[in-house]
Amino acid sequence: LAKASNHTFQTEVNRMMKLIINSLYRNKEIFLRELISNASDALDKIRLMSLTDPGVLAASSELGIRIKADAARRLLSISDSGLGMTRHDLVNNLGTIANGGQEMNDMIGQFGVGFYSAFLVADKVTVVSKHNDDDQHVWESDASSFSVAPDPRGNTLARGTHITLHLKEEAADYLQPDTIRALVKKYSQFINFPIYLWAARTETVHEPVEDAAEEKPETKKTEKTVWDWELMNDNKPIWTRKPSAVADDEYVTFYKSLTKDTSPPLARAHFVAEGEVSFRALLFVPRVQPADSFNRYGTKTDHIKLFVRRVFITDEFNDLMPNYLAFIQGLVDSDDLPLNVSRETLQQHKLVKVIKKKLVRKALDMLKKIPDDEYEHFWKEYSTNIKLGVMEDPSNRARLAKLLRFHSSRGAAMTFLADYVARMKPGQNHIYYIAGASRAEVERSPFAERLGRSGHEVLYLTEAVDEYCLGALPEYDGKKFQNVAKEIFDLDESDQQKERMEQYKAQYEPLLSWLQDKLGAHITRAQVSRRLARSPAALVATVFGWTGNMERLALSNAH
Ligand code: ADP
Ligand code: MG
Repeated sequence: LAKASNHTFQTEVNRMMKLIINSLYRNKEIFLRELISNASDALDKIRLMSLTDPGVLAASSELGIRIKADAARRLLSISDSGLGMTRHDLVNNLGTIANGGQEMNDMIGQFGVGFYSAFLVADKVTVVSKHNDDDQHVWESDASSFSVAPDPRGNTLARGTHITLHLKEEAADYLQPDTIRALVKKYSQFINFPIYLWAARTETVHEPVEDAAEEKPETKKTEKTVWDWELMNDNKPIWTRKPSAVADDEYVTFYKSLTKDTSPPLARAHFVAEGEVSFRALLFVPRVQPADSFNRYGTKTDHIKLFVRRVFITDEFNDLMPNYLAFIQGLVDSDDLPLNVSRETLQQHKLVKVIKKKLVRKALDMLKKIPDDEYEHFWKEYSTNIKLGVMEDPSNRARLAKLLRFHSSRGAAMTFLADYVARMKPGQNHIYYIAGASRAEVERSPFAERLGRSGHEVLYLTEAVDEYCLGALPEYDGKKFQNVAKEIFDLDESDQQKERMEQYKAQYEPLLSWLQDKLGAHITRAQVSRRLARSPAALVATVFGWTGNMERLALSNAH
């Protein structure tokens, strides 16, 4: 091989391979999922290109994945008629890791383990690839280094990639058709391209018996082994089916294959939107916040894949969910968006805004429907997202407010605002709250004393973001919020109480002027208050001033 070149792997690749082999030795089978997923990605890419340039399919219009086992030689091959790789691609894509900066464990969690998982089961891997822009090349590696050379047989593939795994002795089971079928069903049944297995089936043939008498033809039955491509997956996309016709476990399997999450989702929504724009969508809430939701907060957002008429367009659209809902996983398939335009043009399309608006509504409905016993878990994982949503998304503020939960003076359990309002005392017009660093701190606070005595419930805001969140929320169900640490503290008094207040004001005037005089530099004013029950005095913020808690947060942020 004259032009063969030898290469060492990028350091990160070696680390990645070690990590894969050490952490996944019990779960070797995922190699097939990874290779099928790469084949599917390559098919998506060529199909997308063909929309603007049909010529890219000239060499072959077939789009599919084929798996073949050669038990005698212990070879397993996975081939696709996707985009293929040029010589340059082979060196770069299969010799380095693009996301070099990312933590390895993170990458494994988020993107799956990728191509190198082939070495879980193979001691040698051969990749033959034909890209429209280059001649066919062969990449080969024993996991320690790799070589790339032009294929001496010439361009035997019309287009695409043919991967051959030289299986380790202990991995011979992956040559069994039943094992392969089971793995495809488990991990890859929702791939949107046909996956075929080269498999034998027995056919019964009725052959005429040759020397039988003409008038009484006889046949004899023979069993024949026929080798053929057997379709292993149902490649009708799950989201195009009627929701009532999809079983729970199908959604779970689909979710797992979509996200590589190992736990089932916390909630899901599958719906068809019609009207101004028609699309189908499938949304999921992962049990655990995806690691990058906050890392990349404000830069990369959303985990929504965009399809147009069943064709995968992109998962980097990042414009289908707002930041605070970036944790939602899923996909949208629209019939109304144009197929043959660039992603940038699509991004500008006016219907994209309409789709986003509907998606957010549906996502919030989905969250509202999470049953009580699961909501606690949801709230632990995602409360900050919802509170940020209240601050960032005015048009959905009322919907988001219905999802908020706070601790309260009523007991250990958290409460929704609706439940608080339902328990309000007759004549109470405000939702009372107090903010502080911890439940213990706010429970001790003199501000809530009187309310506690009179049996009024007070919300305890103990997360940093809480007070800002309620600051952005003018009211709930027509009830304004009242921070009990602020000066105007309207307890909805009777005339008699107001009268008594006037008396007190007159009576304590000398004390008030004395305090004003002594503390003048530190306070705005001193006044009589009905707020307290046991404590003699309290330092209160003005209506537009910062509360002590906000000052504390501002100070700790500045440091
Ligand atoms: P990822 O799929 O997350 O990008 P992988 O390790 O699975 O990472 O694959 C690395 C890269 O190798 C892919 O991004 C792709 O560019 C290339 N690649 C792998 N398999 C194929 C294939 N069957 N056809 C075309 N390119 C492929
Ligand atoms: Mg991959």
